[in-house]
Amino acid sequence: MAKCEKCGVEVSTENLYEVNGSKVCEDCQLKMASSLSPSQPCG
Ligand SMILES: [Zn+2]
Repeated sequence: MAKCEKCGVEVSTENLYEVNGSKVCEDCQLKMASSLSPSQPCG
């Protein structure tokens, strides 16, 4: 098991993603990816 550096949830290593050098869970990875995207519609 590994721990998301963003929200602290425990996830299995295969569900851990690296974003900007941080190991995060899939949820945080998606949030970070969408926040990095310049043109994201509201909602
Ligand atoms: Zn997370």
